[in-house]
Amino acid sequence: MTISEKVAYLKGLAEGLNLDTEKSKEGKLISVMIGILEELAMSVEDLEENALNLGEEIDVLSDDLADVESVVYEEDEDDEDYDDDWFEVECPTCGETLVVDDQALADGEVECPECGSRYALELSDDDEEDEESETPEE
Ligand SMILES: [Zn+2]
Repeated sequence: MTISEKVAYLKGLAEGLNLDTEKSKEGKLISVMIGILEELAMSVEDLEENALNLGEEIDVLSDDLADVESVVYEEDEDDEDYDDDWFEVECPTCGETLVVDDQALADGEVECPECGSRYALELSDDDEEDEESETPEE
């Protein structure tokens, strides 16, 4: 039951008592109270409807914002990822594009898929050398 339906039920009960709402003070009191409850019920239901509409509008705005964010941020993130994760070199033997990715870096070499030539990657291991140099001497 909605609040309005409960108030209508209450109003029906009060009318069943056949209260004298003109001469009886109690009857008048109950009549006025029920009138106030009816107004409150309508106000609350209006507010609930407004809140639902606002929620739907916020959902739409949130979706739109997500679209904008994906356009604004996606390209930058992709560019950074590409710079960090892999780069391309040209095979000196056949000119094929070689992708130097994480796996190639881990292996220390890259193999050309076109001509099968292997090339060792010259990697700087500055970090490891620094760690070794920090070993305390006696
Ligand atoms: Zn090649």
